[in-house]
Amino acid sequence: VWNFSAGPAALPLPVLERAQRELLDWNGSGASVMEQSHRGKRFIAMAAQVEADLRELMNIPSDYAVLFEQGGATQHFAQIPMNLAGEGDTADYIVTGHWSEKAASEAATYVGVNIAANSKSENYLRMPPREWWKLNPGAAYVHIATNETIHGVEFQDAPDVGSVPLVADMSSDILSCPIDVSRFGLIYAGAQKNIGPSGLVLIIIRRDLLERPVRPMARIFRYAEHAANDSMLNTPNTWGWYLAGLTFEWLKERGGLSAMAEENRKKSSALYAAIDNSGGFYSNPIDTPVRSRMNVPFTLHDSALDAAFLQESEAAGLMALKGHKAIGGMRASLYNAVPYEAVEALIAFMRDFSQRHG
Ligand code: PLP
Repeated sequence: VWNFSAGPAALPLPVLERAQRELLDWNGSGASVMEQSHRGKRFIAMAAQVEADLRELMNIPSDYAVLFEQGGATQHFAQIPMNLAGEGDTADYIVTGHWSEKAASEAATYVGVNIAANSKSENYLRMPPREWWKLNPGAAYVHIATNETIHGVEFQDAPDVGSVPLVADMSSDILSCPIDVSRFGLIYAGAQKNIGPSGLVLIIIRRDLLERPVRPMARIFRYAEHAANDSMLNTPNTWGWYLAGLTFEWLKERGGLSAMAEENRKKSSALYAAIDNSGGFYSNPIDTPVRSRMNVPFTLHDSALDAAFLQESEAAGLMALKGHKAIGGMRASLYNAVPYEAVEALIAFMRDFSQRHG
């Protein structure tokens, strides 16, 4: 079975096989990793290694802290303004799809939200050109979602926003290609696409931002407290941390993020070409340069065929191709764990289906 789920998504098979082998006896301890104290030597050594591997993979500069948080990306939609904005501050939000829109609306409780650019009136089919953005030089930060998981648009590079810290939701494209971390003030990502199980959220934050004066809040919401306590202010998601580590090791063995970038480009290009060359049977209306490499939404020329497409694809071992209810149609998510072979199988199925139903 090939799994094209948008999330929680497929994990690399070798990662799952190793987790299975180690499930009952982790690291010679005679117990599962889930049964280890997070204060124990074994767990602390593993946690540090996982962070070191992530730093190596993403080339994270030493003036950035890496936090292993919980609450899903959604909780951090709120926690980010709580931590980065003081009383009376404003922040700029670039709205390019469902998730950045949601981030902006959740933030509004804690910061004055300025929608500096918004492509909603164009159904999010293209990125608002950078020269149209109405940025406020006094903003506490600028927020973007680098990849819109539902609408299938992706930034090709970090936009230039001057000296205001750039905050990016990378939930659905983190680790899919090399990035220059120093272009960002804060990067956050829920784990359930390219990292590991849901329930873990990675935060990569420039350390000076931890010093921002903040409103009174419980310690558990303060990133500075988590950083000062090595993400062990309370019991962390130990299982998620462990599995993330297995994924990072797998990525290193695969040749790191440059190798993943090449593989991901090859997979998405092949699928977009199959859609574009289908004689109108399938279509993806996104502006070509900003098409997502991770999530490929597409429609059939006649939506009356959708049910048959889903039923037959599932019978052919192609799982979770139903599009998000907000836009309908189909969606194939091509995260790191989805091999080229899976995309080939999908393309072959799509060709065969269009011949039979064309
Ligand atoms: N941001 C993006 C880009 C997403 O794709 C998702 C959904 O999975 C979220 C945020 C919300 O994540 P969570 O359900 O972990 O809160």
